[in-house]
Amino acid sequence: MRKLLIFTAPSGAGKTTIVRHLLQKFDKLDFSVSATSRSARPGEIDGKDYYFLDPTEFRRKVKEGDFLEWEEVYDDQFYGTLRSEIERLWALGKCVVFDIEVKGATNIRNLYPDETCAVFVKPPSPEILFERLRGRKTETEASLKKRIDRAAEELTYEKSFDEVLLNDDLDLAFLEAEAIVRRHLELEKNSDK
Ligand code: 5GP
Repeated sequence: MRKLLIFTAPSGAGKTTIVRHLLQKFDKLDFSVSATSRSARPGEIDGKDYYFLDPTEFRRKVKEGDFLEWEEVYDDQFYGTLRSEIERLWALGKCVVFDIEVKGATNIRNLYPDETCAVFVKPPSPEILFERLRGRKTETEASLKKRIDRAAEELTYEKSFDEVLLNDDLDLAFLEAEAIVRRHLELEKNSDK
């Protein structure tokens, strides 16, 4: 069966770390590489972390209907899931894993209600989340403020998803995330690979 597993959360809640852990642990999972018009951060690789597109190219793909969903997550910063990405991974027999914000997550879940398990990654508290965001050295003051404002709004979406995963102790969050994968994929313990 074609399956989708979405990890969604406010920026800074730790969903990327959890998704990376799961991708290492389960061969059956593969990552939906999103397209974005923001520039690459140091260490990010085009085609692996994101497909980095310039804004004109991004808009062209929107017009041509290439995206399953897309959002202007921050002013002039677009992010979207390409239809071709899901088809590519399903053709390989993979369960597709997403790391996306709450509106995109809701849209994909509405498009594929039977195939999707959507997990909301919850930070221990709003204050801790904002501290984590401030600790990121990759943001300018203005961009940090946008991220904090948006994160505060996104925290209100918790009840809209299938599972809530508390990310307080990271090792516990990993274990809980693994259990969610096994349930969604109907895997027996010890048959992760
Ligand atoms: P960042 O700039 O920190 O990599 O990502 C900013 C936000 O955009 C994060 O919440 C991330 O999960 C979300 N995001 C990444 N890819 C997509 C996508 O394809 N669609 C949507 N709607 N959001 C995305």
